[in-house]
Amino acid sequence: MSTVVTRFAPSPTGHLHIGGARTAIFCWLLARHHGGKFVLRIEDTDLERSKQEYTDSILASMRWLGLDWDGEPEYQSKRFDRYNQYIDRLLETGHAYWCSCSPEEVEHMREEARARGEKPRYNGHCRDAGLGPGPGRVVRLKAPREGQTVFNDMVKGLISVDNSELDDMVLRRADGSPTYNMAVVVDDAEMGITHVLRGDDHVNNTPKQILIYQALGKPLPVFGHVPMILGPDKQKLSKRHGAKAVIEYQQDGLLPEALVNYLVRLGWSHGDDEFFTLDELKRVFPEGRLSSSAAAFDMDKLMWLNGQHMRHASIERLMDLVAPFVAALGLGDIPKERLKAMVELLRERAANLKDMARDMRFMLIAASELEYDQAAVAKHLAPEAREHLAALRSRFAALADFNRETIHDVLQRYVQETGIKFKAVGPAMRVALVGTMSGPDIAAVMEIIGKNDSLDRIDRALSL
Ligand code: GLU
Repeated sequence: MSTVVTRFAPSPTGHLHIGGARTAIFCWLLARHHGGKFVLRIEDTDLERSKQEYTDSILASMRWLGLDWDGEPEYQSKRFDRYNQYIDRLLETGHAYWCSCSPEEVEHMREEARARGEKPRYNGHCRDAGLGPGPGRVVRLKAPREGQTVFNDMVKGLISVDNSELDDMVLRRADGSPTYNMAVVVDDAEMGITHVLRGDDHVNNTPKQILIYQALGKPLPVFGHVPMILGPDKQKLSKRHGAKAVIEYQQDGLLPEALVNYLVRLGWSHGDDEFFTLDELKRVFPEGRLSSSAAAFDMDKLMWLNGQHMRHASIERLMDLVAPFVAALGLGDIPKERLKAMVELLRERAANLKDMARDMRFMLIAASELEYDQAAVAKHLAPEAREHLAALRSRFAALADFNRETIHDVLQRYVQETGIKFKAVGPAMRVALVGTMSGPDIAAVMEIIGKNDSLDRIDRALSL
């Protein structure tokens, strides 16, 4: 196969949402699998609604997801002259013509067509009038009136439209600006795009774009239109059901590879496989099947996959990723060794990075700041339990080597020597050190917070 070139072409009128992200991932995978090129094109022709901050945010989300693009991003707003050169060429070759019909007149033609039970369209009034440029005039494509426009969609299969249904679309507006379809075709053709994969809200544009390719004498790319992502209720995806920006998932503490994995699976399958790393996806993407029916977003499954990727990620990577969440809790700079120990301790339990940071908090605050759950204190720090706790405190204080094994030994021996059940001291220790009855292995916690802090916490519990 000649080089595969794909593109992602977001309009910077908002942050990158999961639907757009999924399209971007598909395009990226296709290009990367084949060792081809992935072009990023910012479609900022709507000068009113396009904002630089959204472009920045989209680029940041793409970087976070790991979707690198080749070369510099292209901006449509900088390419108006290019589009107009091509429109001029179409005028010269007789594939386009000037039209002086006013918007009101065109609207009237549409109404007439509607009244006849036909598709509302421009009636070709100026098609053969041989007009030249003039104020208020637009340029229209001289589209074929007979035959069909047919393409084989990568996702939806054969699609065919009667040319009689397509009208002589406007290529250049009265104010001199090129229209959207014109710009896209010029870009895709000039940038050598071989595969146009996009959301199926654009499927109606494709036959129109094909007519422009044909008028320009440019080879057609392969087209593919992926269905939308629906909510679990099979309705339009709502915010409540996950219609969030990628950046919000990032802030919620998801791993980017989990979001990529999940979004790919939402419109593509490879047998019954669920878990994929980015490298695996790159390798097997063309072997899988793009689904032609809309998939329903399932937050539980996304969270499950995130957990899987949390267990799969290296400790170093989790340390890097969780650090900003810890910082956001105002817990300051943590020595690397301590962060590492906490990540090792929590990675099996934490559903995401934000939870992981939250679960670290009790280990990072001073004994005096620990919040004690009153019910747990009342239940587990009864007078007898306090006596055991005080006795254990002196044994811990005497430990020269304070690590989880020696701490376990102390507990074990104490239980054996006194003949009490572990239940008589275990919960008391936990409440004293954590403040509540939940949390990870207590000896591991003590090793991480260290001897002084452990003793301080026991002292504080005994003083409650
Ligand atoms: N800019 C369009 C959008 O954001 C994409 C157009 C395309 O992929 O051809 O929906």
